Amino acid sequence: MYDCIVIGAGTAGAVTARILAEEAGKKVLVLERRDHIGGNCFDETDPHGILIHTYGPHIFHTGKEEVFSFLSRFTDWHFFGHEVVAKVGEELIPVPFNLHTLHMVYEKEKADRLEQKLIATYGEGSRVPIMKLREQDDPDIREIAEYVYQNIFLKYTMKQWGQTPEEISPEVTGRVPVLISYDDRYFQDKYQGIPLYGYTKAVEKMLRHPNIEVKLNTDYKNLSGEFDRIFYTGSIDEFFDYKFGQLPYRSVNFKLETHDKEYYQCNSVVNYPCNYDFTRIHEYKYYLDDKSDKTVIAKEYSEAFEIGKNERYYPIPKDENIALYNKYLEEAKKLNNVYFLGRLGDYKYYNMDQAIERAIDLFEELK
Ligand code: FAD
Ligand code: UDP
Repeated sequence: MYDCIVIGAGTAGAVTARILAEEAGKKVLVLERRDHIGGNCFDETDPHGILIHTYGPHIFHTGKEEVFSFLSRFTDWHFFGHEVVAKVGEELIPVPFNLHTLHMVYEKEKADRLEQKLIATYGEGSRVPIMKLREQDDPDIREIAEYVYQNIFLKYTMKQWGQTPEEISPEVTGRVPVLISYDDRYFQDKYQGIPLYGYTKAVEKMLRHPNIEVKLNTDYKNLSGEFDRIFYTGSIDEFFDYKFGQLPYRSVNFKLETHDKEYYQCNSVVNYPCNYDFTRIHEYKYYLDDKSDKTVIAKEYSEAFEIGKNERYYPIPKDENIALYNKYLEEAKKLNNVYFLGRLGDYKYYNMDQAIERAIDLFEELK
């Protein structure tokens, strides 16, 4: 009855299902073990009219025209240039650390000199990962690097990953480079925003197609039947019953608080790299500019993923974990009709646009 089965109704699964149904004319069954679609992008409106991102706040950003156009077929946009500040000492300073931040941290004469040196060394507008900046011999640049490392990266990374920046792949801290510019935005991508009616509505529209059927509350493990092709966006170790051991993930405990005031903080996100057990505080109403006399915030407490206790949120990019993932990948290659994708299926620290792009690319490969 179905040609293909897609496991998981997150972004990777929904995009795959839509393309298979629409472009290849396949009958597609989407299985989702949660009681909702959307994967970790799921959101719903609370009684105060504020859209809550249940699995952590999501800001869409991409430089890829193709990805933006694809998603735009299913949603209008609330354009949103995401900005983050970090509480360091008594000050709130822009993150990524940029030339504004430099001028907040150092007195004018020194900041002017350091700015010239950074521009001369790296070029205006460049993005320098902190681990690269720390390799510099120049004493002035080393001083900036030490400031940024100690005040922004070290303790935050310890809280988030339970490891130092040296212990995990440099790609992780490289996501938030030092910016040699006055751009205060967290992302520099051309397209950034939040779906006007939320992510779930966009995914719902994507899955609304006569060739697609979605079954919620259904684990793939409980399914029997023959399918031409299986597209699996769950964790690859689970598919193989953990035969080589479990792939480690980080999870997050989001502690939500409702406050009886219009706003709690001055920004959608405030990072706490120096103290407290949580990494950051999000205030949800900023994302779609929701109006309410109450506000809802979430404090993020990072923790290890444990089966049955919490959710898989972050693959941990580290050599030994990649080696374990590669063993599963070798097993996957022996199957001729199962394709793994998505943040869990590929065990890659994908943003939404990368999960979408991967699904589009996989279909192109199979064509
Ligand atoms: P998922 O969203 O995890 O979907 C996988 C789905 O498969 C899940 O619904 C799961 O229940 C289902 N599933 C798994 N196994 C089975 C099974 N055996 N049977 C049936 N169903 C199964 N990206 C951004 O671009 N911007 C952001 O601001 C951003 N913020 C984030 C904040 C947090 C805290 C987290 C965790 C992620 C964030 N992301 C962000 C990343 C984004 O969530 C992912 O890129 C995206 O959700 C990946 O989609 P996916 O479909 O691969 O995986
Ligand atoms: N990071 C940090 N301090 C910050 C912001 C980020 O140390 O103020 C590091 C930390 O290791 C974090 C990584 O950079 O996990 C990536 O940050 P990003 O905001 O991209 O993480 P995500 O939004 O995916 O949780």
